Amino acid sequence: MDTDVKENMDNKNNAQRRVKELEAAIQLYSMQKGQIPDGTTLWEKIKHKQEQLQTALKASPDDWQDWQWQVANRVSDVEQLAKLLQLSKEQEEEIDKVCRLFRFCISPYYLSLVNSADAACPIRRQAIPAIEEMLDQHGLVDPMAEEAGSPAPGVVQRYPDRIIINVTNRCAMFCRHCQRRRRIGQSDENLSLAGLLSALQYIKEHEQIRDVLITGGDALMLEDQTLDWLLTELEQIPHVEIKRIGTRVPVTLPMRITDDLCRMLGNHLPLYLNTQFNHPLEITPHAAEACLKLARSGIALGNQSVLLAGVNDNAFVIRKLNQMLLSIMVRPYYLFHAKPVTGTHHFRTPVETGIEIMRSLRGSTSGLAIPTFVVNAPGGLGKIALYPECLLGTTENKVLLQTWEGKIIEYDN
Ligand SMILES: *Cc1c(COP(=O)(O)O)cnc(C)c1O
Repeated sequence: MDTDVKENMDNKNNAQRRVKELEAAIQLYSMQKGQIPDGTTLWEKIKHKQEQLQTALKASPDDWQDWQWQVANRVSDVEQLAKLLQLSKEQEEEIDKVCRLFRFCISPYYLSLVNSADAACPIRRQAIPAIEEMLDQHGLVDPMAEEAGSPAPGVVQRYPDRIIINVTNRCAMFCRHCQRRRRIGQSDENLSLAGLLSALQYIKEHEQIRDVLITGGDALMLEDQTLDWLLTELEQIPHVEIKRIGTRVPVTLPMRITDDLCRMLGNHLPLYLNTQFNHPLEITPHAAEACLKLARSGIALGNQSVLLAGVNDNAFVIRKLNQMLLSIMVRPYYLFHAKPVTGTHHFRTPVETGIEIMRSLRGSTSGLAIPTFVVNAPGGLGKIALYPECLLGTTENKVLLQTWEGKIIEYDN
């Protein structure tokens, strides 16, 4: 046989063998992804639940779509919750005990994502108080020492060139894993005008600050007018190059993403918005439309998941979540290890769980679907990115590396 022809056939055989190998690598995920519930596949069921909630809360369909109605009708006491969700007497008593210590509050929309029949529902775990919160002997109220790192009201500075401003403690839903639960307190409060002005003054006086992150609470709990004013003020400071918004409303209150809001935010580019989807169940057609609307207005969307035991501490759940996020123009940005905040110990996983999830993502999905896994250093020393080890050793002129499939190769150095 002609050597060229033989080489071609060898190549073809190798390529076919490789394709088979690659198919085997995705087989388990392909088989299991359908069993991971998501808000798009279950939409009919969720809509039915929404209709039931509308009836129980005497809301019209227009009320339901009105974010102000959703905020005004957040469920925050146990008697009302028991009317809207199937709770055992024991569960009711537990919730009652816990919420005296850590209040709860859930938008009717987010409540509609809870599967009443499933005690381990990942939405329920994030929204509804659990007795473990009171049994937690671990943790600190403020493990990142944010209060100590506050040079002006509402301002936290941990890095030389960027700061966060906590503009409110209000949220559409208080996450049970909240890292700032110390600020939830017993009432809803926005940073005062005087507070906002002194934060702006602080930024003006510090020319190295080029990136300002507006968060809370939830930054989009502010009225459009207030946000518009704040973003305009920031734009008038010459050294502020970019602005960011931290908000969970695309997940917990997608009706907040109105056309007016998108138009206003679109006038303030460069603007980045980071949200927090933690489970595919949160990606409903409403949440998807909210994200796509923001993207159409020119806003770059990122996702900051928290790695939560019993919610998303599973490589396939994270893979599915992140792939679905890309399809609604949200780029996975961070996966946070849950901080040691008092009352949240039951959500914490070993650090290794996060590293193994990161290892499983590389190569198995688009690089775009891979966030950075981060641990927050205690004492406000900042984020630490952790990566699976791929550099196994070095010799004089070679490095020993591990590929995404675990194959070990030598690479000229
Ligand atoms: C997380 C954080 C930031 C932003 O960090 P990036 O890695 O740039 O996203 C800024 N300031 C504080 C206090 C933070 O906690």
